[in-house]
Order: sequence, then C-alpha cells, then structure tokens
Amino acid sequence: MRNTSQRKAVMLALDDLHGTHPTASEIYGAIRVRNFQIGLATVYRTLDAMVERGDVAAVRTGNAVRYDLTHHHHHHLSCQICGNVTDVDATEVPSELITFFESETGFDLSNATIQLNGTCAGCSSTN
Ligand SMILES: [Zn+2]
Ligand SMILES: [Zn+2]
Repeated sequence: MRNTSQRKAVMLALDDLHGTHPTASEIYGAIRVRNFQIGLATVYRTLDAMVERGDVAAVRTGNAVRYDLTHHHHHHLSCQICGNVTDVDATEVPSELITFFESETGFDLSNATIQLNGTCAGCSSTN
C-alpha cells in the first residue's frame, strides 16, 4: 500500500509540473510542498519502477535525467547543451521510421517513445 501512495504522490507531482520535464529532485520538491513524507531515494526508486511499467518516460539530457508522464503519447527532443526537452506529437513522427525499426527488430512499437538528442535552436544560435 505504501508503494501505491508513493506512486500517486509522484504522479501528482508530474501532473503539477507537466510540460516542464522535471528532474527527480524537482519532483521531490513538488511532493514535499504537499507535505507528503518521502525521501529523495524513494522518489528515485519509485520513478525507476514507473519507467519500467511504462507510466513514465525518462529523458536523458546533457546533465540530468528528466521525467514525463506517458499518458499523452509524444516524443522527446533533448538538447545536450542546456538540457531543455521539447515535446513532439506522435503524429508528427513519420510512420516509416517506426515501420523500419519494427521490421529490423520484430518489435511491436505501437507505444514507442523516441528520444532524439541534439542542440536546440537557442543553443545553436549562440554558438
Ligand atoms: Zn539548448
Ligand atoms: Zn514530454
């Protein structure tokens, strides 16, 4: 039961921070604001379990791992310089790409999330 309430607390925090792709410590902060007693290590452990279940997406950026709920299916562009994460709607990804990976690997990728790493417009213009 404890695990369920921890998962709920993390879910609520991710909902609050939706669109910002928070780090584990930002999620931890949002949970503590609600006066829910939880340790940072538990937040990490809970996030890991949720990523494994497919409820949460982990996005690796240049300097951190950021998290997002997966209930709205979308993909991630990750800037390796500033760590910004941009959402891309699933429909904007060419289906040829999915079909290519499916035929190469035999995977069913109907619920796949793609993460593309690169440099965002802001960072490339300052170079
Ligand atoms: Zn950037
Ligand atoms: Zn996202």
